[in-house]
Amino acid sequence: MPKYSGKCPRCGKIHYSDRKGDVVVCDCWRYCPICGAEMKPYKPDLAPKTYGMDGKRDLKILMVCNNTAAHPDNSPFYSTQKPVEVVCT
Ligand SMILES: [Zn+2]
Ligand SMILES: [Zn+2]
Repeated sequence: MPKYSGKCPRCGKIHYSDRKGDVVVCDCWRYCPICGAEMKPYKPDLAPKTYGMDGKRDLKILMVCNNTAAHPDNSPFYSTQKPVEVVCT
């Protein structure tokens, strides 16, 4: 039985480990918060970049969900959520 556990602050999932202080990366950041589908890594358009606000905003996008049929506004969801590290204590 694992002795230590940590709770993901984002999704509430409990992670277990035998080692105290172990860092577990919760996989919830990879799933779309709207439809629950697994998202794809976001690749910016290959078109030449323009510098400015839009370029900066693009850089923060990590994942994209193209399951638009399941989204209320029928547009892709862009996620800026980073992997959530959970420390087991
Ligand atoms: Zn999580
Ligand atoms: Zn989705």
